Amino acid sequence: MTSPIETPAPGQGHCDPDVRRAFDELIAAAQFDELTAEISAGLASSRTDALLEALVECEVRASRIAARRIELVHELRVEQERIERERAERDSAASSASAAAQWDSRLIARRSASAELACALRVTSRTADSLLARAATLMTSLPVTMEALRDGRVAFAHAAVISDAADSLPAESRAEFERAILPSAEAQNPSRLKSRARVLRERMHPESIAARRAEAMATRDVFVDPVADGMAWLSALLPAEKAYGAYRRLTLIAESLEDGHDAREAGLEPGLEPGRGPGADPGAERRTLANRRADALADLLITGEIDASGLGVGIRAEVHVTVPVMTLLGQSGGAPATLEGYGPIDDDTARRLAATAPSFTRLLTHPETGVVLSVGRDRYRVPADLQTWLRVRDGTCRFPGCARAAARCDLDHTRDWQHGGATDHDNLAHMCRHHHRLKHQTGWTVVQEAGGVLRWRAPSGRTYSSEPALALTG
Ligand SMILES: [Zn+2]
Repeated sequence: MTSPIETPAPGQGHCDPDVRRAFDELIAAAQFDELTAEISAGLASSRTDALLEALVECEVRASRIAARRIELVHELRVEQERIERERAERDSAASSASAAAQWDSRLIARRSASAELACALRVTSRTADSLLARAATLMTSLPVTMEALRDGRVAFAHAAVISDAADSLPAESRAEFERAILPSAEAQNPSRLKSRARVLRERMHPESIAARRAEAMATRDVFVDPVADGMAWLSALLPAEKAYGAYRRLTLIAESLEDGHDAREAGLEPGLEPGRGPGADPGAERRTLANRRADALADLLITGEIDASGLGVGIRAEVHVTVPVMTLLGQSGGAPATLEGYGPIDDDTARRLAATAPSFTRLLTHPETGVVLSVGRDRYRVPADLQTWLRVRDGTCRFPGCARAAARCDLDHTRDWQHGGATDHDNLAHMCRHHHRLKHQTGWTVVQEAGGVLRWRAPSGRTYSSEPALALTG
């Protein structure tokens, strides 16, 4: 042994008391260190444990809150249905207006609840719609899942997966589906649960996969999503001006495939048309504008041709880019140039588009644009240059939070023309078909303030303002 502690002191057969003491102290210290290490390891593991415990507790509470949120959303819808039912009864007693063109009171209630939710929670109307749909499915067909959510046994993400899958099942299959899927929800993460739900749903769905595919086909479309730094997704990450240019061209091609048939005049939803171009089989599939846009994209990429009819060939996109005069002159520091539907872009791109690209129409933000801003009460129709000006000013539908591009919207007289509203820039605003109807058929009202600001008032009495995309001079 080489340890100095266990070696007797030189010249002594027994241990020196001082050495002995030092030895004992060392042993005690070593044992203490061991003990401390053990204690601190124990503490560390119990601290981790305590943290995890607290996190799990948070999740349980979040689930309870999510359950309460679902209940409230559903109650809001039921309340809106009551209000709209009463209003419909009053209206039908008061007037004999044709009910055919009107939304029925349940649809109005859903739209109205969705608009109230979107504004109050500051979410998109798509998010509000999906919250309403999930709340309805969970509250009416999935009582066991709701119970598990209230108990914190599943999270909202699990309940959403179950509700989305159940939503596409007929009502009579939902209880069985719920019974089969819930044990997985309590044991797996939402992503695994989704795969499991897909398998179960396929097994339990009474409709053939072919029929469901035909249904899903009706939802085909092309989407463009703006992202930062002058880029946008058209399911390919592209410079924003190319993505928007391509999207606009696809839309124009899709519109040209309507063969002059105006779906709106026929009283159909925007873009619905009866056939697939010249010589179409009258019994053939009906394509919406969205469907034709998706078809045009696929045709162009796969075969390089748009349609057997040849329609759509030679169509160029036309996209507006607003360039402040000073930017065009090469001076920086002023207001940024704006790409219609996207937002600010860098000066160099703006100058290049304004100077060279034939499919981009430049609009100068100059005090003397020469745009006719008002035709007063003489004309109902909005002159083309004012239309363009308003399209750029609004950018999108002017309902708070709606992102439908102004190019796909109607121009609405804020104060109805037949009620004395003028065809003026400050009495016109873009509304998508959906919000146009919301304005005319529900309790939502709107006034236009200076600078193109719209002030909306919800049936609940809450007010929301909607700013124009661009405050142009004039
Ligand atoms: Zn809208």
